[in-house]
Amino acid sequence: MMKKSVVSALSALILTGIVLTGCKDTEPSVFSLETAAQPEPSNGPVSFWVATDLHYLDKALEDGGEAFQTYVNGGDGKMLPYSDELTEAFVHDIRQKKPEFVILSGDLTNNGEAGSHKELTKKLKQVEASGTSVYVIPGNHDLNNPWARSFKNDKQLKSEHITDKDFPRLYGDFGYNEAISRDQNSLSYVVNAAPGLWLLMLDSNQYHNNEKYGFPQTDGRLLPETLSWIEDCVQEAARQHASIITVMHHNLLSHTSMPVSGFKLNNSQESLKRLRKNGLNLVLSGHIHMQDIRRDPGAITGDSSSGLLTVYDIATSAMAVNPHQYGEMTFDPASRAVTYKTSAVNVEGWAAANGIEDANLLHFKTYAEQTFARNSYNKALERLQDAPFTEDQKASMAEVMSRLNVNYFAGTAGSVLEEIKAMPGYKLWENMEGGFMPGYIRSMAREQGWSKVSLEIILTRH
Ligand code: FE
Ligand code: MN
Repeated sequence: MMKKSVVSALSALILTGIVLTGCKDTEPSVFSLETAAQPEPSNGPVSFWVATDLHYLDKALEDGGEAFQTYVNGGDGKMLPYSDELTEAFVHDIRQKKPEFVILSGDLTNNGEAGSHKELTKKLKQVEASGTSVYVIPGNHDLNNPWARSFKNDKQLKSEHITDKDFPRLYGDFGYNEAISRDQNSLSYVVNAAPGLWLLMLDSNQYHNNEKYGFPQTDGRLLPETLSWIEDCVQEAARQHASIITVMHHNLLSHTSMPVSGFKLNNSQESLKRLRKNGLNLVLSGHIHMQDIRRDPGAITGDSSSGLLTVYDIATSAMAVNPHQYGEMTFDPASRAVTYKTSAVNVEGWAAANGIEDANLLHFKTYAEQTFARNSYNKALERLQDAPFTEDQKASMAEVMSRLNVNYFAGTAGSVLEEIKAMPGYKLWENMEGGFMPGYIRSMAREQGWSKVSLEIILTRH
């Protein structure tokens, strides 16, 4: 099937890295007065985090056997064998640093397994018990997913998955029950997360045909009805003098000049127009698994003097993928300033604090980077199998790809570009005609010059 090959091509690319309505559910237009009540004003900025693409896999669904190993090695670099430990460490970080709230922007689970959702919600309950609120939306892997699997010995077994009907019930404590308003046509909602700050949590996924297709649909869009509902929400926020951050799984803007589809919203132009019209100037997204920050109009480094409102899209890299980071953010209600910077999950600290003896966990940063680098290296080498180069040349080219990939996914490629260009394998890639990898390398070189890991902007006043 056409779609399926696009999907696997995407993950192969990325993997290889080579690369790379009224506003309420039941009562339209009615805002709940209770939840919309203004919270106590507080003085300083509030701190909150955004994480995405956890792709959590319940430990009970894998035995570490042959089938699981094969799946992990053939995958897109997700740290599935330590999925539970990584998530525990993230929860530990939250309890230590106590952000006001945490946003999870979809792909919460590996492939929508009921067991993974259930275990994850248990952890999120602990987070809320420690005083940090959690707000989630689904990603394209989370609902009606026919790929839900468990792994036993040398076999993959079909595993139970959850539906879009189950999701708001399962995650009721993590946004849906707190919503000021819910979209009738999607799993979108809006919530008052802090004094003067609303989160517009948008469901950009298309999951109704997954069963029919036999795979989870990758591409996303915002429904016309959802776009209208957004306008109602913005008007209500304006009445309450609240600023709004928009959150969705798919990207609003292009985060790569590579010709790959399925990352950006299918109706990104229309959506951008509507967001801009409503003064929504900051989007938090995920899905592409790489760290990147873009704006429209104009490159981040350039001057944006078009007269159009500048809209930013921060794509946080996948928590499941090296360097296993999330975004640390602040919002100052007085100035409406928002800051963002990436921070890696402190797995080592969590492992040490819990008396864990697994050396991979005690030295997780190194372990994770080496694992990811090796994965990229091997995939590059595989691609070069039939290319007319000596073994040494291939090794050197694979080394370039590996270095680049590690930094590209982390959002730090700009800082190593010169070093990479000086590597012998670089020239070989540069001179190679056609193919995905040379284009990938060139795109990387074009896309440097601004920070992909930090940002400070002022939210629109509504
Ligand atoms: Fe994902
Ligand atoms: Mn996704």
